[in-house]
Amino acid sequence: MNETVISVSGLRKSYDDFEAVRGIDLEVEHGQVFAFLGPNGAGKTTTVEVLEGYRERSAGRVEVLGLDPAAPTRDWRERIGIVLQQCRMRPELTVRETLELYAGYYRSPRGVGETIAQVGLQEKTEQRAGGLSGGQLRRLDVGVALIGDPDLLFLDEPTTGFDPSARRQAWDVIAGLRELGKTVFLTTHYMDEAQRLADRVAIIAGGAIVAEGRPDQLGDRESRPTEITFRLPAGVAAGQLPGDLGAAAAGGNGAVSVSTREPVEALNRITGWALERSLELDGLEVRRPSLEDVYLELTAGASDNDANGGGE
Ligand code: ATP
Repeated sequence: MNETVISVSGLRKSYDDFEAVRGIDLEVEHGQVFAFLGPNGAGKTTTVEVLEGYRERSAGRVEVLGLDPAAPTRDWRERIGIVLQQCRMRPELTVRETLELYAGYYRSPRGVGETIAQVGLQEKTEQRAGGLSGGQLRRLDVGVALIGDPDLLFLDEPTTGFDPSARRQAWDVIAGLRELGKTVFLTTHYMDEAQRLADRVAIIAGGAIVAEGRPDQLGDRESRPTEITFRLPAGVAAGQLPGDLGAAAAGGNGAVSVSTREPVEALNRITGWALERSLELDGLEVRRPSLEDVYLELTAGASDNDANGGGE
């Protein structure tokens, strides 16, 4: 089923004379995890708040779950779950009591027990929210967003400040949301998070979308050159590498970096050449451009919306 859950065209938002969002288009399909990436001040929160129906737009067409968020209905609100960066739980309530409280706000909530299991808090069911760790609290936030059984979840930087193992656990929870058939709109600063979780990624910088696509294809990543790096032993110069490789090599002090679109062939020639001469190639590495490389290139200079001449 290819149902469009979020459809945005020409969205603009100005704060006085400052244009924070400058005409963006987005499409999110049912069941996708969609990651929205961008540097500080790029316009992510502004966009998400428009989609959630909490901020008026200046121009453009926006449809979320078939409705214009500028005119939300109760039914529509119940189909949306929101996890903000900072949720305030009542510290004296247990995990179970918290979810029971929120379940009472919905006409057809999910079961409290199954929701606790979904976010992996079974062992903390009777623990008060005030005694949960940061990562556990975040999971409770996701549980609260899930309790109304929404079709669409907005997660705002769900793993900021987490230690590596808490991040992995949060990723499992988010991957589980996809398995439940939910559509997830995820705002994040972490490329590895987008890479791991997202079906599609959009990068916003200076209020404009600078790239959109599958994480492995973003910014033409698949067709970008591969870097082969290694160190040559003392007394051997990069210019001695076979054929055009010497000319393609960059670096000094014995450190060599070869940028190639035919990595298998180049690697074969380099290692064959080294073996014939009994040379060690210390630190030999083959590296495809990462999503982070592409992101940094696409957003270079667009930090804090400076492309737009001020703001913060
Ligand atoms: P971050 O990653 O830092 O949370 P963001 O991408 O979410 O950033 P926004 O919060 O959408 O960015 O802000 C985009 C721009 O709009 C920023 O330059 C910000 O200063 C400006 N801005 C946001 N809210 C307002 C407001 N209420 N009044 C005036 N300017 C605002």
